[in-house]
Amino acid sequence: MSWYQRLSARWDDSSRIALTNGDLTVTYGDLTERVHRACGLLQQAGLEPGDVVAIQLPRSIEILDLVLGATALGMPVVPMNDRYTDAEVSYQLADSFAKLAFLSDGTAPELPPGCRVVRASALPRALADAPARKPTGTVPDDATAIIGYTSGTTGRPKGALITHANLTAIVSGLHGAWRWSREDRLLHALPLFHIHGLFVAQFGALWANARTDWVGRFDAVDTLRAIDRLGSTLFMGVPTFYQRFIELPDALRFDLSRVRLFTCGSAPLPAHVLDGFERRFGHRVLERYGMTEVGIVLSNPYEGARRAGAVGLPLPGVEATLADPVTDAPTADGDVGELRIGGPTVFRGYLNNPEKTAGSFDANGRVRTGDLATRDADGYFRIVGRLRDLVIAGGLNVYPSEVEAVLLDHPDVAEVACVGVIDVDLGERLVADVVWKPGATLAMEALDAWARQRLAPYKTPRAWRTVSSLPRNAMGKVDKTLIRAEWEMPRVRGGLAADVSAIARGNLALALESEGLRLEAETAFEGARAVFDRNVGARYFVAEVAGAYAGQCMVTTEWSDWRARQIWWLQSVYVHPAYRKRGVFKALYKAVVDGARTSGASGVRLYVDRSNTRAIDVYRRQQMNGDHYMLFETMFAEPEKAVDR
Ligand code: AMP
Repeated sequence: MSWYQRLSARWDDSSRIALTNGDLTVTYGDLTERVHRACGLLQQAGLEPGDVVAIQLPRSIEILDLVLGATALGMPVVPMNDRYTDAEVSYQLADSFAKLAFLSDGTAPELPPGCRVVRASALPRALADAPARKPTGTVPDDATAIIGYTSGTTGRPKGALITHANLTAIVSGLHGAWRWSREDRLLHALPLFHIHGLFVAQFGALWANARTDWVGRFDAVDTLRAIDRLGSTLFMGVPTFYQRFIELPDALRFDLSRVRLFTCGSAPLPAHVLDGFERRFGHRVLERYGMTEVGIVLSNPYEGARRAGAVGLPLPGVEATLADPVTDAPTADGDVGELRIGGPTVFRGYLNNPEKTAGSFDANGRVRTGDLATRDADGYFRIVGRLRDLVIAGGLNVYPSEVEAVLLDHPDVAEVACVGVIDVDLGERLVADVVWKPGATLAMEALDAWARQRLAPYKTPRAWRTVSSLPRNAMGKVDKTLIRAEWEMPRVRGGLAADVSAIARGNLALALESEGLRLEAETAFEGARAVFDRNVGARYFVAEVAGAYAGQCMVTTEWSDWRARQIWWLQSVYVHPAYRKRGVFKALYKAVVDGARTSGASGVRLYVDRSNTRAIDVYRRQQMNGDHYMLFETMFAEPEKAVDR
């Protein structure tokens, strides 16, 4: 049965209000009519079950009409961020073989063959003119309902295939766990292109026969005023929302007494924000954990302790375990392991990508989430970081989130992000970006001392920076890729120690180029070659070309065997975005291969990724899910046994 059939079968009173958006009020009867018109429009366009419909529209009720209409007809939907660039839209349209794209007026992507476009400005008319067609025919439960391109802050987006059965499992599970009822009034401030705003919030409300009031793009004051004015009972947010709420001047007062539940997810909710919100507004936020590929799977309890820093317990039907990311062995309670998820909410795989699909499941058929977590003795899970954010400083594991939590406890710190950057001696070293609270006068030395009193020496940041804000994506996740790139750039610009001067010369040339100074491509390749010439005696090379933001090319050498966890970062080379062309990669590859050959290396792989994925990722994901783009590979011979320096 299609997701929509199950959903609409629950709508027992067409006069009930389903949605409001400013002056617009839509009853469940109106919504049914709107969905039928969307079905008419899709059918008139000649689409058939299985044809992919892409939606990249500003937040509007038409998104809902189209998502429900398309899924009712068995047409998978690709929901897209309306702030995507043309290149991002082009990629997702091509990757999903979209047949029909509903696009914002300003977007001008390349269209795959046979893909037609309906513009946002023409859509209301097109829907109004379309015949209302009640969807008929059956859609299998395991058919794809949504292709959710993962919003991760590293790697090229992959299309996660979310089935009709997954949607039912996600929404019905939360319905019980969070005690949804038809009396609920949800205040909706989240984007509709992501599972949080679309499935958890919007579909949750529709499943309950409840009412949703939309507010425009998030604004802290407008949102709380709307909750007060509309008598909302439910609100769902990302941590940034709650952070903004607690920053509001005390003089502002809101009546939030009718709210029965505030939830938070998509990124970690700092304990001081949870506590601060409770102190100020009298509500303890319920934090939960989810991921496009697995749905919402862990939640603090509705009744019972909502623990700061914890994402709670598995929802009914969800299997959640912790395992060693490399060996797959189960992790003991209290130890850090990779969170693995099984159960009815788990996606079917990645579109057109059996290799990545296979890599994303472990031997027990559970999804490798890439999130590192611990479990308290009574079963509560705590996310301690991303596998890819793990910093290995001098061979010791440092979890940036643990350090961030300590720094956030400082009364003058508003926000903080710790990342690992390349370090010639340690491999990696931890650095911190700090946003001070307004009026804070603290010197960085004092924060450093605070950290040293509370953290083992190897966990304390080696360098600090004051910043005015942290870069975040639409779901409030901090973009550590960008922070890392910003930290590493000046190092290269500033030159390097004498023992790596050969590398520095090449890097410096490229850094100049990345600042807009003209340099011949050949000079850039010489830089890459210099890196490899320097590394005589290395057994194995990984060259990684990356950088959505910085246009970064990272060349890394591994000194030990693939299975050892030691990766030595020798240097990174920055390439101007203009070099991100195939011909350039080829030439770079050639330089790398030549360098490797002369140094007696056993092989070369060149990875190209859209963002600044580091070699540690390449190494780990090599073992886990092959989440990279390997353009070229040359193996001279199998890598020999580990050679430690
Ligand atoms: P997405 O697929 O865009 O929903 O992103 C999923 C990722 O968001 C997860 O793998 C986690 O890294 C992160 N995430 C979601 N909820 C939480 C949470 N409550 N605490 C920490 N990280 C979270």
